[in-house]
Amino acid sequence: QKCLSLIKKTKFLNAYITVTEEVALKQAEESEKRYKNGQSLGDLDGIPVAVKDNFSTSGIETTCASNMLKGYVPPYNATVVQKLLDQGALLMGKTNLDEFAMGSGSTDGVFGPVKNPWSYSKQFREKRKQKPRGEKEDSNWLITGGSSGGSAAAVSAFTCFAALGSDTGGSTRNPAAHCGLVGVKPSYGLVSRHGLIPLVNSMDVPGILTRYVDDAAIVLGILAGHDPKDSTTVQDPVKPFVLPNLTDVSKLCIGIPKEYLVPELSSEVRSLWSKAADLFESEGAKVIDVSLPHTSYSIVCYHVLCTSEVASNMARFDGLEYGHRCDIDVSTEAMYAATRREGFNDVVRGRILSGNFFLLKENYENYFIKAQKVRRLIANDFVNVFNSGVDVLLTPTTLSEAVPYLEFIKEDNRTRSAQDDIFTQAVNMAGLPAVSIPVALSKHGLPIGLQFIGRAFCDQQLLTIAKWFE
Ligand code: GLN
Repeated sequence: QKCLSLIKKTKFLNAYITVTEEVALKQAEESEKRYKNGQSLGDLDGIPVAVKDNFSTSGIETTCASNMLKGYVPPYNATVVQKLLDQGALLMGKTNLDEFAMGSGSTDGVFGPVKNPWSYSKQFREKRKQKPRGEKEDSNWLITGGSSGGSAAAVSAFTCFAALGSDTGGSTRNPAAHCGLVGVKPSYGLVSRHGLIPLVNSMDVPGILTRYVDDAAIVLGILAGHDPKDSTTVQDPVKPFVLPNLTDVSKLCIGIPKEYLVPELSSEVRSLWSKAADLFESEGAKVIDVSLPHTSYSIVCYHVLCTSEVASNMARFDGLEYGHRCDIDVSTEAMYAATRREGFNDVVRGRILSGNFFLLKENYENYFIKAQKVRRLIANDFVNVFNSGVDVLLTPTTLSEAVPYLEFIKEDNRTRSAQDDIFTQAVNMAGLPAVSIPVALSKHGLPIGLQFIGRAFCDQQLLTIAKWFE
């Protein structure tokens, strides 16, 4: 009840696309019954959770924040949603995002941008008052980051205790950093993608947003494991995720990738990053500079691979099978074209166009195949560093604290993604686990996060180290 009332109170944040009040209350009632009857309880029994609106939910509208899927009601639950419900979680609703998860601000969805709850914190309000006169009060709110900004705002505003995001190039870690949360991107293959509406199949993973590392570990433990409906999931059984209390980090080796020290990095993030490294060192850990030499190709390589997979993925939205259909009867092709023009925003259409260009017979070798080779080099950089004895890498998550909406929209989606995903994207190309954790508040009173990157399938070790640092 308390979470539902907070959802109503914070409606202006635009965190939710659909609030599933009736579902949540019914689930709560059932949970209470189980408790009173002394039945065995699930690990999330009675715990309110929210789900990004690009995960299929049975009987509940799933829009991807796009006109294309407005009114689309899936007939089944994504595996991760089902796993949460099987453990007794209460579904509070479906959260807002950039259209089809393409973006890094949660500003580009058809239901409007998500506002960062920290915009309304005491310290930041003080600062707002000092803005030049004439500027409208409400125009200066901050973005949440994205594309899982709705999920981040939902957890940050205490409307639920955990939320699912998705992470293809940073979409869970980026809003986690901007909203003062823990954001986990699991190893590719550890968690099922069945029912997650794809952006880039070879990089997508369900992500987890919580307030504390322990909470994220509980959720990851529930979600992890083989799914017969997703052939890319791990075959081996996954052990439960119980994080030990690490007391001694002196045997750890922490790598600091020198390519991540970019000129655009804000001085505050930079200084927190170096303080974090110092802390590990002062506790006896070995902290070494490492090199990931192909880092600078990561953004452009991601662009070619992402748009190519998008071009292929979005072909299913033709007005016949799902969601929107334009009422035009000149020809089938005209119906396809008009449906897609009305259904997708500029960002999605732009990516489909670029992707089809890269996949043209005459371009395929030079772009798509080349990008796949570069992707391998980027992934090998990480393998080399981990093979040299490094346990985890420590990096910034974002260049700076969350920026005001008006500043953010000055640049187009592509430029923004290129800047904002600089520390997160390569991880998706390499399929590695990573976590962003909040480390401090900036001088404006806004949260700043740092990222730990781990070896493939060493998610538990990664979270254990993050917990120590937390
Ligand atoms: N910003 C990236 C993009 O726009 C990442 C998106 C994501 O992780 N879903 O593609």
